Formats: sequence, C-alpha cells, structure tokens
Amino acid sequence: MTRVLVLGGTGEARELASRLADDGHDVTTSLAGRTRHPRLPAGEVRTGGFGGVDGLAAALGEVDVVIDATHPFAATMTEHAAIAAGRTGTPLVVLRRPGWTAGPGDRWTRVGSLTAAASAVPAGARVLLATGRQGVEAFVDVDAWFLVRAIEAPAVLPVRAELVLARGPFALSDERALLERHGITLVVAKDSGGATEAKLVAARERGVPVVLVDRPPLPPGVDVVTGVDEVLARL
Ligand code: NAP
Repeated sequence: MTRVLVLGGTGEARELASRLADDGHDVTTSLAGRTRHPRLPAGEVRTGGFGGVDGLAAALGEVDVVIDATHPFAATMTEHAAIAAGRTGTPLVVLRRPGWTAGPGDRWTRVGSLTAAASAVPAGARVLLATGRQGVEAFVDVDAWFLVRAIEAPAVLPVRAELVLARGPFALSDERALLERHGITLVVAKDSGGATEAKLVAARERGVPVVLVDRPPLPPGVDVVTGVDEVLARL
C-alpha cells in the first residue's frame, strides 16, 4: 500500500483520489481551504496551507509519493511542491490537464497575466469575467461592465458589475443563454483547460472575442503528466 499525498483543489485531484482509494492505496488529499463547501474527495482530507516549503517538506516525511494535482494557476503551491520534494527526495508527479487550443472561428487574444488581460478590455465592453474569485481584483478600475462569475464572492468587484455565484462545469446551452441575456461582447478567462470550455464554444458561435490568460510556467525538471491514468501508471 503506497501512501500518497495529493495536492488537490481540482476535479482531476478528486478523480485521482477516488481511483487511488479503489486501488487500495492510502490517499490523503490536501485542500487549501479557499472554498467553504468544497466537493470532498475519497480518502483522507486535510485542509489549509502547510506553512510554506518547510511545512510541506515535513508533511512529505509521512508519505511515499506526492502528486501535485492543483489548478494550473496555483503556481506557488506547485513551486513549493517541487522544492520540498527535491529537498526530501520524495517522488513528485505533476498532474496538469492540457490547456485549450484555438480552433477555426475562435477570436482569442492570449496574454501573460491578469493585469495584461485588464489592459486588453476595451472601454465600454460588456465582459463575462470568468477568472475566478482571486482574479477579479485586477479589473476593479477597468472602464467596462462585468458579469463576474465565481464560486464564492470576491473581496472586491469592479464599479460596474453584476455577480453570479456558480460552480462549473456549465452546459453549452446555459453559456449561450448567458452571453445572449447579458449582451456579452468579451469573455475573459484563464487557460485552465478541462471541462469549463463551454464558455469558449459559446463565444466562438457568437463571434465574441476572448482574452485568455496564459498559464504560469512549471518549475524546471518536474515530471509532468496530463491525465489520471498516467499518474496511476507512474505509481
Ligand atoms: P497558490 O497561490 O499556488 O498557493 C498559495 C498558498 O496556498 C500555498 O503557498 C499554500 O500555502 C496554500 N495552498 C495552495 N494549494 C494548496 C493545497 N492544495 N493544499 C494546501 N495548501 C495549499 O494557490 P491558489 O491559486 O490560491 O489556489 C488555491 C487552491 O485552489 C489550490 O489548491 C488550487 O488547486 C485551487 N484552485 C485554484 C484556482 C486558481 O485559478 N488559482 C482555480 C481553481 C482551483 P502554504 O505555503 O502555507 O503551504
């Protein structure tokens, strides 16, 4: 029985925990504790930060392998995992779902940061802001109207904004209706990859442009896989 620590907060992390538990492994998933009512994975769950690299390194002393299945934009956690695993000699696999690729009809502008995304919003635009609660702050001073969608309310909102509290994934029909109802002229999102791409499809269908924030880079030299099956094959 392998003792596995999964750094979680994503759908893949939940799927992985479930498959590991089914296979008889001793799995603990770590959640940051950002959402009040998270979808809980199978196995043990611990919640809250480790207290930086030192705390994580101490926790790695209790396990045989660590899987970083955090969100592609959780760059600090991923960096800490790489450093702590290197320091303790704990095998680390990074599970990173693939990002999205533009297809025919997509009108995407890729930018390197949330700040750059805010600068790319034209004055007077009606924006679906789907960057998550922590991504809203960069847009507070932008001269546009925002439909801010997040799982929980952000600390701040742009001056002209409506808040929709919702947890994806969203059906394509709902995304179509949302863009229509609010007269959305621009979608701003992170290149999260995975199942929340219906908004991009709805935007393509309506000819609505998208500003997509690129992922932060991974630490050099880490072992990266793109799916749960590959993680299980590694184990
Ligand atoms: P982050 O900026 O990379 O991490 C900041 C700090 O939060 C870390 O240094 C760590 O604190 C703690 N932390 C993050 N993930 C943790 C985990 N799985 N278990 C325990 N502690 C964790 O992370 P973030 O962008 O705020 O994301 C927080 C969580 O939300 C992640 O687990 C991620 O998978 C999930 N999430 C993030 C996004 C996003 O867009 N960023 C979207 C969906 C879900 P210590 O230094 O004290 O250990």
